[in-house]
Amino acid sequence: MITLKGKSVFGGIAIGEIAFYKRNDTQIKRCHIDDTEAEIKRFEEAKNQAEEELKTLYEKAMDDVGEANAMIFEIHQMMLNDLDYIESIENIIKLQEVNAEYAVGMTADNFSAMFEAMDDAYMQGRAADVRDVSERVLHILSGAAKSGVTMNHPSIVVADDLVPSETVQLDKSLVLAFATQYGSSNSHTAILARTMNIPAVIGLGKELLEEYDGHLAVVDGFEGMIYVDPNEETLKIMREKQEEDLRQKELLDQLKGKENITLTGQKINVYANIGNSSDVGAVLKNDAGGIGLFRSEFLYLENDTFPTEEQQFSVYKTVAENMAGKKVIIRTLDIGADKQVDYFDLDKEENPALGYRAIRICLTRPEIFKTQLRALLRASAYGNISIMFPMITSLWEVKKIKEIVAEVKEELKQEGFAYKEDIELGIMIETPAAVLVSRSLAKEVDFFSVGTNDLTQYTLAIDRQNPKLDPFCDTHHPAVLELIRMATESAHAEGKWIGICGELGADLTLTETFLEMGIDELSVSPSMVLPLRKKIRETK
Ligand code: PEP
Ligand code: MG
Repeated sequence: MITLKGKSVFGGIAIGEIAFYKRNDTQIKRCHIDDTEAEIKRFEEAKNQAEEELKTLYEKAMDDVGEANAMIFEIHQMMLNDLDYIESIENIIKLQEVNAEYAVGMTADNFSAMFEAMDDAYMQGRAADVRDVSERVLHILSGAAKSGVTMNHPSIVVADDLVPSETVQLDKSLVLAFATQYGSSNSHTAILARTMNIPAVIGLGKELLEEYDGHLAVVDGFEGMIYVDPNEETLKIMREKQEEDLRQKELLDQLKGKENITLTGQKINVYANIGNSSDVGAVLKNDAGGIGLFRSEFLYLENDTFPTEEQQFSVYKTVAENMAGKKVIIRTLDIGADKQVDYFDLDKEENPALGYRAIRICLTRPEIFKTQLRALLRASAYGNISIMFPMITSLWEVKKIKEIVAEVKEELKQEGFAYKEDIELGIMIETPAAVLVSRSLAKEVDFFSVGTNDLTQYTLAIDRQNPKLDPFCDTHHPAVLELIRMATESAHAEGKWIGICGELGADLTLTETFLEMGIDELSVSPSMVLPLRKKIRETK
């Protein structure tokens, strides 16, 4: 038995086989080929196999996420059969007498550059598709497996660390737990584990070897441990602990339908955070009063190109309808920093967290912003949607956002689309600057929601992605708490409400402090709704 200790980011016990997340980068080499006919045939066979894979993916996506989202795989099939694309590859093989990998790589570069140079945002988005389709063919040609995990049954996903674009590709129904070599407690793998209500341990170190792939293991999310090839005694103890955990969860179930009210009668709203429309089930199951943060950027991360207005509209509408009149706060896309999407073509930055991200992208690429706003406003006719804007630092940003929202409303009106005229607009308070000008900001918006993950990062000058800084990261730092108090006072002075949607909202040792400050809403991972309700109901 191998015992490794890391850091717990979500409790629970999982027992199952390890599925190790493998990364493969295909390096393209230029090789001279004598028999070019045979090489063209090799390319054609790889292309046919890629087409088969895309057909299977299309059918799976149809079942999982519906036609609008599955369409991308149909578009990829069309690209693969594009005569210009095929001709370019075959010509390069024939005329330059080179290998198929090189010809596919060259064609992908040329075609994507051509798409990128076009004016239309939709056509620019096709650049990423050409690269993606070509990547698929390259993987087949080189015989390399694609990055990812192979899971035929529920498994413990082990990785060095996972970025959001990798977690979105996992078949969530088969993930029993996450265990990573690196990672920080505020990383999105941690947030995902909390949403999915599954144990997660990070920082287990290099000793967590790839060769354990397929081995039986136990993840103890309470203690931050993983046991690989556990002995009988450990298995017995862990099974008992797992049963006890289930008993505790059943006890919490009894709090469903009860109010979030303290012993002295103070009420507070408890909402849930989601990253995906499929998380709504967990929100309802845990009896949250609404959705306090829908991280819409996951819609962009899941796609190979910009999600269209119709695609987005259909997702937002479904969420709003399923929440049946309960509040759904959708945050506009927060791409950048740790959430990178290839087709946005963002430059590599020295300081991505201080860089071109979130509202800064939206305000400088209005065509992307407007598409999302159109979808959000149209969906607002089907439920209780509010829109929230991330990474605000200045008053002018809010004024500009409101101008754009008004323009979009006018366009929709002209086109005869229904939307909620008095839709609530709010902002994330996640920079110290926003807190310091919060009184002016509060005059312009309907609500605030404190993003404590970023507010902590920017206040303490601590990169939330860097686990080495954990010893310096005091999440209860008085500076952070004081900023939350200041933002609360500003919001209330202007008659607006304020919530917390960062991870700190679920820190039960601070619930009393937040109640005392007068915070109106706490939005937490679905799995934390009932423990938080319990804590509120026990508070004097
Ligand atoms: C935050 O910063 O606290 C927040 C909720 O946003 P995200 O974690 O998505 O950056
Ligand atoms: Mg944030």
